[in-house]
Amino acid sequence: MAWYPGAIKMELQPESDAQPAIRPTQFIVHSIVAPWTARRTYEYWRDSTNLESHFGVDYQGDVGQYIGTETRADANAGANRRHDGTGAVSAETASNLEASDPWNAKQIENLIAIGVWLHERHGIPLRICRGHGDPGFGYHSMFPQWSTSGTACPGRARIRQFREVVFPGIVARANGHTTPQEDDMALTREDIEKVAQRVWEKDHFINVPWGTETNGQWMAKSILVDNGARLRALQAAVTELAARGAARDAVLARLAEGGGLSAADAQRAAEAGATAALDRLAIALAAEGEG
Ligand SMILES: [Zn+2]
Repeated sequence: MAWYPGAIKMELQPESDAQPAIRPTQFIVHSIVAPWTARRTYEYWRDSTNLESHFGVDYQGDVGQYIGTETRADANAGANRRHDGTGAVSAETASNLEASDPWNAKQIENLIAIGVWLHERHGIPLRICRGHGDPGFGYHSMFPQWSTSGTACPGRARIRQFREVVFPGIVARANGHTTPQEDDMALTREDIEKVAQRVWEKDHFINVPWGTETNGQWMAKSILVDNGARLRALQAAVTELAARGAARDAVLARLAEGGGLSAADAQRAAEAGATAALDRLAIALAAEGEG
């Protein structure tokens, strides 16, 4: 059993003890079609149904965890637990009654933080699932195998946010260590290049023809619609990253020459520059949107 340290633990019984173990390989996000707090979601799972998700992410900034991430939860049909023992970790997120509103900033932050933790704790790979059994990150309606009778969950606005803000945010933070409280060190040039490389790989990956993939048509359409904007945004972002890397090198070079900067000053300056570059990268990815 594994419990995310950023969550309020509200363990559901008997499910938590009774349901079989899984080896978590996917993270699937949902909208619960109700504006509930994490606790209200817990009470719903406890009192009204024997279906449940691992996490609840509310509007106020709280995360509830109801089931350990190495135990099956029942939010994603065929992805809950497979014959090989792998399964998906699920998060329900508070929404309006039509599941049409976007996630707020607190929800986005919490989804990114959960995703990074799942990557670090369980080794869930930093990619969008390429098939219903493929390890990675996804949202409920991505594959029909993940629901019993079809679903639009988590809603169009949030599907867009998942692709453009949440998933890129998980990748950037997992690779770049941009969480301020966990990281006093400046990003290295290698870190920055790793992030840039990740983004290019992701872009390349999305452009791979999908053949017999279940959602192939959907993917192909999205490629046609936004490929140009995506490329332009990525080129700008990578240029920016390279510039920031160069700026950092310059600071370090001056330091090496015995200039006036203290080591701490130089490091702070470099970190601020690198973090700003990563923020711009996230914004560029988000802004590529409407094309
Ligand atoms: Zn759902």
